[in-house]
Amino acid sequence: MPKNSPTSPDPRSPLVLDTRELPRRPGALRTVERVVPAPSDLGLELIGVPEGADLDLDLRMESVSEGVLVSGTVSGPIRGECGRCLREINDSVTVTIQELYAYENSTTDATTEEDEVGRMQGDLIDLEPALRDAVVLALPNNPLCRQDCPGLCPECGVHRDDLPADHSHQQIDPRWAGLSQLTRTEE
Ligand SMILES: [Zn+2]
Ligand SMILES: [Zn+2]
Repeated sequence: MPKNSPTSPDPRSPLVLDTRELPRRPGALRTVERVVPAPSDLGLELIGVPEGADLDLDLRMESVSEGVLVSGTVSGPIRGECGRCLREINDSVTVTIQELYAYENSTTDATTEEDEVGRMQGDLIDLEPALRDAVVLALPNNPLCRQDCPGLCPECGVHRDDLPADHSHQQIDPRWAGLSQLTRTEE
């Protein structure tokens, strides 16, 4: 069974938590409140947290018998493009994190699959994978500037907000023109 990922986390990375200050006694608690720059590619193709933007970490680390439980929230700005009209979206996202990181060589470490629980590497916890998962889950696959965004006219590309309700490019086929005339008379 694989124990550790091949690369150990960089303790200077803003998303790596150092647990040396946290006693390895079940129930011991430490809070982590800090603002860190967002890593690159945090999000989806159309929407995500801009690289370097402020991520607000509001977490607590709790010693449990087999490792450290990290829980709390991370929030930050998101920027993207409306899937219908391509207008810029500026919003924010808050995700909940709750992840157990097993001590190296603990029973949990030995008896669980790699993706079941997190793993500590020495005294370090790399929060980035859990944060990425949480952010991706929280973001819409089809981001919209607003829920009822009417999108663009497929013919002229003008936002439907800026067009009259009866805007149309319909060219009446001359063969049907007579019929249309008929319909109009009936109205
Ligand atoms: Zn839109
Ligand atoms: Zn049009």
